[in-house]
Amino acid sequence: MHPVHVLLAEVADAKSLRKAAEVVRARAEEWGLRAQLPRGAGAAMDRTLVLSACEGETAVKVMRALSELSGVEATSHGREPLFWVNNPEATEESFTLGDAHFGKGNTSIVAGPCSVESFDQLLPFAQQLREAGATALRAGAYKPRTSPYHFPGLGEAGLEILAEVHRQTGLAIVTELLRPEDTERVALVAQMIQIGSRNMANTALLREAGQTGRPILLKRGMAATISEFLQAAEALADAGASHILLCERGLRHFDGETRNLLDLGSVPLLKTRTHLPVVVDPSHGLGRADLIAPMMAAAVAAGADGLLVEVHPQPSASVSDAAQALSLSEFAQAVHPLAPILKAVGRRLVTASSGISTPTAFSDDSSTHPRR
Ligand code: PEP
Ligand code: MN
Repeated sequence: MHPVHVLLAEVADAKSLRKAAEVVRARAEEWGLRAQLPRGAGAAMDRTLVLSACEGETAVKVMRALSELSGVEATSHGREPLFWVNNPEATEESFTLGDAHFGKGNTSIVAGPCSVESFDQLLPFAQQLREAGATALRAGAYKPRTSPYHFPGLGEAGLEILAEVHRQTGLAIVTELLRPEDTERVALVAQMIQIGSRNMANTALLREAGQTGRPILLKRGMAATISEFLQAAEALADAGASHILLCERGLRHFDGETRNLLDLGSVPLLKTRTHLPVVVDPSHGLGRADLIAPMMAAAVAAGADGLLVEVHPQPSASVSDAAQALSLSEFAQAVHPLAPILKAVGRRLVTASSGISTPTAFSDDSSTHPRR
């Protein structure tokens, strides 16, 4: 049994908010549920109420009745308040990004070198990646690095390279946003903004990224629980993002054989908690090029709606994450078995040439989401 969470509609003052909360409390009591009133006071008052735990059947009835109240914006039933990551009026269960389709049985591959290194390297390589099965190009212009002495990315020059590669190839660009002050320039270039593992819980950055309305690739924090991961996605959605991809990229563990422990169980697990598409990044999940291909296969068998894979024209020369980079031919070989595996589990691999589409393409028009 889980509690019912209630999000109160935004109102001008705390007094009206408290009044709305009292109305909710009175209605909840009709079902024998107690309500914990919003905490805080004045402008700092919470907008959520927590009702006592109840069975799903009761929760559905309570939520339906409460949703009709004018003072209530949304309701949810679960461990934590998740109002938007399961709400088809707020977030997409599947969407199109350039050649890629994520969700509703479609799996697409996003690939590229860890970092943008040069235009001359990236342009021909992007085209080759597409021919080998990638549907979007991912490369970092701003790189979060563990050591202050390691390559931090080309920054704005990297963004310019990405923009030109997009112009010439049409491939959708995915690139990381590291600092709030870069939001506008990253959103101008990226068809999808990446929030990296180190920033999953950076609520200020999530708000900035969500407010752009751009699709977001949200990577799971390296020590984040599923609940924390979902609440980070909720923060993006609450800020305005409607197209969110959840990315499993492995967790910290005690065995130095691999960089992280790739939690593939999170794929089916997340699908019990949210309708958002889930992608898997075996490159950071393992950190070893020789282990990537079988885990790409395992991820799609587990139901992943997409893969994020690091591929480099000359892996040993990669300026970052060289040990996990696949060569182009290794990538092509790893992609080869995916289509039959996906077919066996009732799904399909989307490539630039296969082009069958799923329902909603991303557009800047947010009118399909009346909440905003
Ligand atoms: C990356 O995607 O290049 C990256 C730094 O990954 P993560 O945030 O998962 O560590
Ligand atoms: Mn990397």
